[in-house]
Amino acid sequence: MTPLPPSPPPPLKRLGQHFLTDPNMVRKILAEAAIRPDETVFEIGPGRGVLTDPLCRVASRVIAVEIDKKLADYLSQTCLHSNLDLRTGDALEFDYSTLPQGTVVVANLPYYVSTPLLFQLLEQRSRISRMVVMLQLEVAKRLAGKPWGRDYGALSVLSQYCATSRLAFKIPSSCFRPRPEVDSAVVALSVIPPEHEDEYFLRDFNQTVRAAFAHRRKTLVNSFRDQGLPMTTIQDALGELHIDPKRRAETMTVQEFIDLTHAIRHHATVENIPPGNADVSIDPETTP
Ligand code: SAM
Repeated sequence: MTPLPPSPPPPLKRLGQHFLTDPNMVRKILAEAAIRPDETVFEIGPGRGVLTDPLCRVASRVIAVEIDKKLADYLSQTCLHSNLDLRTGDALEFDYSTLPQGTVVVANLPYYVSTPLLFQLLEQRSRISRMVVMLQLEVAKRLAGKPWGRDYGALSVLSQYCATSRLAFKIPSSCFRPRPEVDSAVVALSVIPPEHEDEYFLRDFNQTVRAAFAHRRKTLVNSFRDQGLPMTTIQDALGELHIDPKRRAETMTVQEFIDLTHAIRHHATVENIPPGNADVSIDPETTP
């Protein structure tokens, strides 16, 4: 008698476990990802393997990181592919240096942690060629947010600097078990390869943008000061670019943030302050 296949552990809400159960949506995600046989895929949160299994059939290798040990055990017994590299752990602590260049990210991201994961994936873009990620609709809209708009924030600026993104399609909550309370969407991001960018620019850019948005209602000058940037550096950098210090972060374009990062670095060096010295300890979960 052949042994019965193991049954999956019950879903844990606190880990954002809403499993995709609609085969049509699985097909659409795979079509959007268009994985080539020589490509490596990085999947965050493989869950019960609804995407992992078909990805293993088309990709050269699938590296999947799952935080739930019971779910990872279940998956290792049911998703029997020799090209699956399944790791148990928190994706926020994942060692990105283990990903080959050109990795494709495909993931139905756990919503409770999707914003910090997106920040992290964008910061690691030198190893990633494109991403097809499922997000709550509200976060998907933030990726495309424009100045003055209510969806515009640090995530919009960083994502538009690092990638071009397109909302591919929406997914109704009826396609998941258990059903999430929010609407979902699949977003395709194509990474813009860094050009003429030194190794610390992205870190400094990120820091400038997050400091500016840390206090959304405050003026730029007050926001930066509250994040620990010296007043002279802020004033000189804004002055050089003719940016009114009374403007707020939500009025700044991506290009203005790029120019401002260069100017802050320049003035910090001239004024003998190490770049990136501002204490920007912002919780990306709550930073729009
Ligand atoms: N990919 C599956 C699907 O589409 O049905 C599951 C998606 S479910 C929305 C999110 C998955 O991410 C769950 O399996 C959950 O356990 C896992 N997860 C949650 N937090 C995680 C983290 N910090 N690191 C890695 N995996 C995580």
